[in-house]
Amino acid sequence: MRKTVKEPLVSIIVPVFNESSNIMEFYFRITRVMNQTNYSYEVVFINDGSKDDTLDQLHSICEKDHHIKIIDLSRNFGKEIALTAGLDKCRGEAVIPIDADLQDPPEVIPELLAKWEEGYDVVYATRTKRDGESSMKKFTAHLFYRFIKRMTPIPIPQDTGDFRLMSRKVINALKELREQHRFMKGLFSWVGFRQTSISYRREPRFAGKTKFNYWKLWNFAIEGITSFSFMPLQAATYLGFAISFFAIMFACYLFITTLLNGNSVPGYPSLMVAVLFLGGVQLTTLGIIGEYIGRIYNESKRRPLYFVRDMIGLEESKDMPRLEGVK
Ligand code: UDP
Ligand code: MG
Repeated sequence: MRKTVKEPLVSIIVPVFNESSNIMEFYFRITRVMNQTNYSYEVVFINDGSKDDTLDQLHSICEKDHHIKIIDLSRNFGKEIALTAGLDKCRGEAVIPIDADLQDPPEVIPELLAKWEEGYDVVYATRTKRDGESSMKKFTAHLFYRFIKRMTPIPIPQDTGDFRLMSRKVINALKELREQHRFMKGLFSWVGFRQTSISYRREPRFAGKTKFNYWKLWNFAIEGITSFSFMPLQAATYLGFAISFFAIMFACYLFITTLLNGNSVPGYPSLMVAVLFLGGVQLTTLGIIGEYIGRIYNESKRRPLYFVRDMIGLEESKDMPRLEGVK
């Protein structure tokens, strides 16, 4: 229906960090795909503080092709913030975040658009298969998605990355969420609206290496859990109850055996075990509380999410002057 009114604008949002070996191939493939559709489109690259010649390459394609827009962030802020910058500044009626490494094949986009035409506000793309990723990464990702499903009441789709289509309504809703700790997949689901999915096969990276090592992924997982669940805090309470219960049971046992057998002053090993175990539990719970307090601290500073150094092809809105931070 929408097509008859006017070709709507579709925004493709691409966060890039040191992707110099992928940019050209990505540009060719996305251009081919978008030209086959009936939509007008813009491809918004967010340069997330790249240290290689990613930005130069972007400038050179931007000069030749008016579909290409660039947001150059003042430093590396991480993929979640880079995505946020893209969502803030893009103007499309439908918006599609996609990785520059061609792991999410641009050829899937027409399918996303078709579902959007059917009236869905979010069409997410679920990976049926992940090629070219280590079995360890696949296994940990699998565990993470299952774990987070149990931890939070918000239905975060399994095996689904940031690659999806969102309508303008959803983007406007997302723009209201200005928290510092941004687990985008969670936020995308949290806003709701009519959602559907399609499946695709995740390809190997075209070139270059992943920017996420296991330490980063671990922190990303903690971010996801703490942003959407209080369960770790509650777990501390229940663990406390459970340990107290066992302690009382043990006390009863000791009382009875002392009555029956007398006290022969043993108990150093059991004492050490109990002391160390409780010490461990206490430190862990303190750590969990610390994770949340740290996040409260960060949120309370109300710092801008990012700074834009330069923007090409996108108008700057009056309330967001270029060199000022954007909350
Ligand atoms: N990326 C980014 N900032 C970062 C790290 C990554 O903008 O600090 C971009 C990166 O250029 C790519 C996308 O996020 O377009 C996904 O990164 P990557 O392929 O390294 O992640 P993976 O696919 O391994 O999860
Ligand atoms: Mg990738």
